[in-house]
Amino acid sequence: MKGICILGSTGSIGVNTLDVLGRHPDRYRVVALTANNNVDLLFEQCQAHRPAYAVLLDGKKSAEFRERLKKAGLATRVLCGVEALEEVASLPEVDSVMAAIVGGAGLLPTLAAAKAGKTVLLANKEALVMSGALFMGEVAKSGAELLPIDSEHNAIFQCMPANYHAGRHAPEVRRILLTASGGPFLNKELHELHDVTPDEACAHPNWVMGRKISVDSATMMNKGLEVIEACLLFNLPPEQLHVVVHPQSVIHSMVDYVDGTVLAQMGNPDMRIPIAHALAWPDRFESGAEPLDLFAVGQLNFQTPDFQRFPNLRLAFEAVRAGGIMPTVLNAANEVAVASFLGGRIRFTSIPAIIEHCMESTAQRSADSIHCVLEADREARALAEGHIAQRHSH
Ligand code: NDP
Repeated sequence: MKGICILGSTGSIGVNTLDVLGRHPDRYRVVALTANNNVDLLFEQCQAHRPAYAVLLDGKKSAEFRERLKKAGLATRVLCGVEALEEVASLPEVDSVMAAIVGGAGLLPTLAAAKAGKTVLLANKEALVMSGALFMGEVAKSGAELLPIDSEHNAIFQCMPANYHAGRHAPEVRRILLTASGGPFLNKELHELHDVTPDEACAHPNWVMGRKISVDSATMMNKGLEVIEACLLFNLPPEQLHVVVHPQSVIHSMVDYVDGTVLAQMGNPDMRIPIAHALAWPDRFESGAEPLDLFAVGQLNFQTPDFQRFPNLRLAFEAVRAGGIMPTVLNAANEVAVASFLGGRIRFTSIPAIIEHCMESTAQRSADSIHCVLEADREARALAEGHIAQRHSH
């Protein structure tokens, strides 16, 4: 019986994780759950899973939540703040940490789990993109196991050589073929992108996800962040990473070996599959996903990505090639731009312009300490906010 902490249990990944865990109560005990705003769902999750700890960021919300649990007769301890997220991710009774907070807010607790040598189930790609080699260095130092949850990286992990561990260079791999659905705007007229709404951008054709990653899928920044994530997880230069648009989302990615063998991992677009894979690893267990019906799928199509339609993909390749703080700047500027788009302050087509402005206006430097990473993140966010206030608000 392993202990698990779920950072971001009320999100799309968090809910899917608890769904899978509910099918295997003999394998995992839920030790800690964390949320930001959705206290009602966190309450239901505490009733169902009886964790030892629950964490909320806000002091007032956590005090009210403590009273609510007490009235319901639950013994869960309620903690509050970012330090509490780091604390529950490092508890001795926690073996595995599902890192499923969205955005840079997940960096410190995910890094704490890595430093504490936990099995880190990584959904929060922004944390890895921001901290790059620093994060991978902590994983190597502590001996933490890093298992990817992103469906593409989980697919690649499954297609890597036997006994592969994240961060190891595999010379027998020629290329990684990272598949991308292309999102909701793959075939939209370019001039129509100017007027798309947040709800249209969040209506992904194949996946149901949180709003931030849904917008990232529509701009293809999600794929860009995944390129950077894959370079780090699989220790390969960006030249060995190829993005393949595959609108059906049935092949979740492929590994091309030096002998010409290409291994693909397939399945329905259901996040419970990679989540169950990582939770059961190195075994397998049931996820709740429907079996893949290839006759219903009919055909699998592939096309090259359109860098003109999706400038964010080009910017992500530029950031990973530049290294240093550029991936941190790219990620921070993107988070600010996406939040502004979701808040109705800027147009969809302004997102790449804001990111490019931030990258061009930032002097390159190394990202070899958490202090440097957090400073670059703060600076890029301020730069993006300033640029939006000046040039892009409507
Ligand atoms: P959601 O927006 O659905 O959930 C985010 C979770 O993080 C919620 O529990 C939320 O709490 C919590 N949260 C938000 N802001 C903060 C904060 N500042 N501090 C602490 N906690 C916070 O996101 P998703 O589940 O879609 O995505 C989570 C991560 O997984 C992202 O990094 C995404 O890129 C990655 N991912 C997601 C996939 C998916 O299918 N959804 C697929 C592959 C990767 P609350 O609900 O209370 O506000």
